[in-house]
Amino acid sequence: MFDLIKARINHGYQAIENIADAKILPTHKGFPVIDETKLGGDIENLIQACPVKAISKNPLAIDLGKCIFCGECEKKSGGAIKFSNNYKISCDSKDKLIVSSDISYDDFQRIAIESRKEIHKLFGRSLKLRQVSAGGCNGCEMELNACGNVNFDMGRFGIDFVASPRHADGIVLTGPITKNMAKALDDAYQSIGEPKIVIATGACAISGGIFADSTEIDRTFTERIKIDLFIPGCPPHPLVIINAILKFLGK
Ligand code: SF4
Ligand code: SF4
Repeated sequence: MFDLIKARINHGYQAIENIADAKILPTHKGFPVIDETKLGGDIENLIQACPVKAISKNPLAIDLGKCIFCGECEKKSGGAIKFSNNYKISCDSKDKLIVSSDISYDDFQRIAIESRKEIHKLFGRSLKLRQVSAGGCNGCEMELNACGNVNFDMGRFGIDFVASPRHADGIVLTGPITKNMAKALDDAYQSIGEPKIVIATGACAISGGIFADSTEIDRTFTERIKIDLFIPGCPPHPLVIINAILKFLGK
């Protein structure tokens, strides 16, 4: 017993202490820096190169809700698109996900997630979430799992996943919502008491991602139900997820 306690003490405190300032790998693809004046070739080639139709023109812009951060556009843009490793790219509305040269990372930070007093009051001390995996590849789910590990330790902020929607304050949706999961998702949502929130995590949940053109998805849920927080990525890193939820909670 004493050996176990000693081992535990020797392990020390392993979680990242200041999660809001945690550094991410330089190779991580985060907020895109766009400078259309550097675009060498035809913009149509760039648009065609994107596998998820995330690039638009007039002005050159990237929809972070569709982007899977594959880097193809960066390679082909002649320097017009460069992904920084600034990872706080989540926001509270779909419009804000479209990034052009008009907005810097600092400006984006100011507007991305507006603090709402009622959200802080209701969920600031404790947020219980039900995760619904609606047909994704399991990448986003693995990163959500990692949010609770000893390194990221999301539970210390009072944010936990629960087994039943009856015990939850909201849903974390992943996956493009396959037809087979559409009703289950709706049932889970209906089972949560008011007030409740919905967090869309990953390109699939936000826009359908790589499955957007599939005939086997049913995204009517996203048309009927207000999504409170959009967390882009394919999949998003745990630091992206945790910092987004903390900012949303006003913590
Ligand atoms: S990085 Fe994003 S915008 Fe660029 S090609 Fe890939 S999916 Fe499209
Ligand atoms: S967004 Fe990417 S990682 Fe997440 S479920 Fe879809 S394909 Fe998988």
